[in-house]
Amino acid sequence: MDFLTEGELYQNVLQNVDKAGKLIEINENALERLKYPRRAITVSVPVRMDNNKIKTFTGYRVQHNQTLGPFKGGLRFHQDVNISEVAALSALMTYKNSLLNLPLGGAKGGITIDPKTLTESEMQRLTRSFTSELGPFIGPDKDIPAPDVGTSSQTMAWMLDTYSTEFGFAQTGVVTGKPVEIGGSHGRDSATGLGVIFVSEKALSVQNKKMEDSTIAIQGFGKVGLHAANEAFKLNAKVVAVSDVSGGVYNKNGLNIPDLINYSFKNGSIKGYPEAETISNDELLALDVDILSPCALDNAINKSNMENVRAKIIVEGANGPVTSEATSYLHEKGIMVVPDILANGGGVVVSYFEWVQDIVWLFWSAEEVRDKLKTIMYRSFDTVWDFSQNSKKDMRISAMAVSLQRLEKAMKLRGLAW
Ligand code: NAD
Repeated sequence: MDFLTEGELYQNVLQNVDKAGKLIEINENALERLKYPRRAITVSVPVRMDNNKIKTFTGYRVQHNQTLGPFKGGLRFHQDVNISEVAALSALMTYKNSLLNLPLGGAKGGITIDPKTLTESEMQRLTRSFTSELGPFIGPDKDIPAPDVGTSSQTMAWMLDTYSTEFGFAQTGVVTGKPVEIGGSHGRDSATGLGVIFVSEKALSVQNKKMEDSTIAIQGFGKVGLHAANEAFKLNAKVVAVSDVSGGVYNKNGLNIPDLINYSFKNGSIKGYPEAETISNDELLALDVDILSPCALDNAINKSNMENVRAKIIVEGANGPVTSEATSYLHEKGIMVVPDILANGGGVVVSYFEWVQDIVWLFWSAEEVRDKLKTIMYRSFDTVWDFSQNSKKDMRISAMAVSLQRLEKAMKLRGLAW
């Protein structure tokens, strides 16, 4: 299993699992089962490129645990994707789904590819080829992929079509994060960002602060960061800085987020936005704000830059953006880190709603989705907060402890690991 666990992200995950497991005195056999994935699938993904030549890419799907229900987790298309990172993210999905009390297990997948190097037609053929290779392992009752970095509702639509064609009839429940027109749920696109803001409201409230009196900086302006910024703006928070891969923009009076969204759609990035100063990603992470939300990639706040952080609260929109070492350091300094498995759970909550709606063929309004999401995010925050207050531990260990307790109980009931 070393090749799966050797990456920095997996090592961070294992440290947290060990700390939390010790805290709740979890059964050691259960802990052992919960650390490692059930299976890791590697496939070659041949694609006919526009120049008519076949090129082969490497794809992965790691299925971590299905004690609570079918495997569930996103698909990432990015040049840095590797099997250990995918495995770590699959483990985080198991813990996240348990923490949120969803009847789902954990999985993750991806292809090592820079999506910007492919044309749209190449991207479609890549997605279809990958779906065919994964065909025997996924399905509405087995393993349900969703979008992540570098994938979108369009990717899910192609996957749905390929899987359904090969299966023989429509299988809408095979993926979530689909367009609404073909069985998607209202509110899925914005769900992760919205969830980030719901838990931010809660984190502020335990410090007797309100959204409308707060300043926020957000790293990443993709599916998570953009919607988090937009929701914070709607709630009258001052979003003073955001960034993407091209760098950051800062306005001490607050950015006009809808205007910035229009600008970034027109120009392909936020670079050069006129109503703001340019800052680097490093400068953004060091801003003195009430909330800093890293919503891009993992290991953004680590040993090398943790001492620069001046935010009061960090809300992890991305998976694994604050390393284990940095979390301990920030906790000592009195900075609350709301961990990924809680903070970015909104996406999988609405994915779960989508899956349920596809099963019963009855679809909810955007307001219903939002209300139900808010209930789950608020409740999950309260559970973790209460645990952390009682145990005097940080929110990351507390979230993991709550999650492991549920998993341990389920494993015991199913007669596993005893
Ligand atoms: P995305 O591809 O839509 O957006 C990523 C954003 O990060 C882009 O704006 C990109 O420019 C920016 N970025 C990339 N490298 C950067 C860098 N070095 N510095 C600053 N910005 C950089 O991806 P996403 O779906 O928004 O996912 C972001 C994170 O959130 C990932 O860790 C993902 O696993 C996690 N997440 C996503 C979802 C979801 O529903 N999409 C759910 C849970 C967790």
